Amino acid sequence: MSNQPVSFFDQVNRNFDRAAALTKHAPGLLAIIKACNSVYHFNLPLERDDGSIEVIHAWRAEHSHHKLPTKGGIRYSLGVNEDEVMALAALMTYKCAVVDVPFGGAKGGIRIDSRKYSKGELERITRRYTFELVKKNFIGPGIDVPAPDFGTGAREMAWIVDTYTALSPDKLEGAACVTGKPLAQGGIRGRAEATGRGVAFVTRAVCNVGEDMKQLGLSPGIEGKRVIVQGLGNVGSYTALFLQEMGATLVGLIEFDGVLYDPRGLDAAAIVSQWNALGRGEKSIQKLVLPGGIQRLENVQEGLELDCDILIPAALENQITEENAPRIKARIIVEGANGPTTSGASEMLSQRGVLIVPDHYANAGGVLVSYFEWLKNLAHVRFGRMEKRAEELAFRRILKTVERNTERTFSEAELSSAAQGSDEADLVNSGLEDTMVTAFHHLREIRAVHGNEIDLRTAAFIDAINKIAISYQDLGIFP
Ligand code: NAD
Repeated sequence: MSNQPVSFFDQVNRNFDRAAALTKHAPGLLAIIKACNSVYHFNLPLERDDGSIEVIHAWRAEHSHHKLPTKGGIRYSLGVNEDEVMALAALMTYKCAVVDVPFGGAKGGIRIDSRKYSKGELERITRRYTFELVKKNFIGPGIDVPAPDFGTGAREMAWIVDTYTALSPDKLEGAACVTGKPLAQGGIRGRAEATGRGVAFVTRAVCNVGEDMKQLGLSPGIEGKRVIVQGLGNVGSYTALFLQEMGATLVGLIEFDGVLYDPRGLDAAAIVSQWNALGRGEKSIQKLVLPGGIQRLENVQEGLELDCDILIPAALENQITEENAPRIKARIIVEGANGPTTSGASEMLSQRGVLIVPDHYANAGGVLVSYFEWLKNLAHVRFGRMEKRAEELAFRRILKTVERNTERTFSEAELSSAAQGSDEADLVNSGLEDTMVTAFHHLREIRAVHGNEIDLRTAAFIDAINKIAISYQDLGIFP
């Protein structure tokens, strides 16, 4: 293997090529699927609070238009560049295909350290970014729909929807121009938690397959599995909280400036609430007040190599490389982040028998619930609004029939708890769990078709390539 650094987009394409070689599609068709269709790079001016002017670099990449709109987050980070947005947009295309979300892939980025800007400055940057996308037709409910990613959240999405609808006031479906919005601005219950909750569902589904656990030398079930999570942001914090709720033991947490490790288990809820209470720019693992006995390490890279059963990188790309892969002790890696494992490291670990659950499946819960939010915005009605009461009445009728035909009489408390209809949060979480678990078993089937000789990443690429190929074959080439 050469020591030449490989770009992020090349890493994604290497994984694509490995899977494509196992399909029967024509080279030209594979080349269309792989290419990044459009990249828009622009510079925008920011007037800072002190009156000085700064030039801000920004991108939006649309990888595939085989289904519209295209979809993908916007990240604010100093690491943003053209290669990164193209790689992340490509991963979005494959991710949507794996979980049957009818979108093409896209990604946006602004090269800033968001901690260095005031709220007002961030708002001006976000609104101007949106304005530039509108000018070039790179945003819209049927065109390209952004969402949160590293360094952005519901607040930025609210600025985007407000700017977009101000510029297109007559668009009835304008709220669907972006997802991950606050609830009051057309957001959906469960979106903020969706990626982390999805990662937790995936991790539990993986641990529930006794046959795979036996091969890894682990007992079946999520209970008691020792987990390390990297990143206490949106994805990492919810992953840690939900896995702890499911019975896993969170033994380690890694942030940008330190590591917490305790083989007896950390209290995820206490840590996340203290972390979230720290203001922007104030966050530091050193500031958390925690019980004695917890080891604190300053070398964040060491955190990935600590003893555990499951490692969940949920911060940034290129964290597990050919350099540190030999020292990784986890038997299972669930990729909460996009691209946390380089393709070389992924091969090395798979050869060592480590089970890697790939990013473009594992963290797809976010885009899946974004799809639900988009549908809600187009329909202009909350999920469950019309059927919740009807369901309750139907359940009550069934329970009354049971009462009439048995000796059993239910108390009003029993009736109201057993006869609850589904509200929006129930429906979102049900759709999320069902999709993530069903997709996992489908990927295992693809692996089995290949004699279990391929890893799950390759299986997920084969799945995506086959689905996108059908689209292109049906559509033909225009004109
Ligand atoms: P976020 O900005 O909410 O959180 C990122 C966290 O990582 C922050 O707490 C930050 O301090 C921490 N961090 C930064 N550098 C680090 C380092 N070197 N070591 C450890 N921690 C570090 O971002 P997010 O939305 O949680 O996204 C994290 C990853 O998940 C990204 O790769 C993103 O593309 C991916 N992802 C996010 C979503 C989503 O819905 N937000 C969906 C799918 C995938």
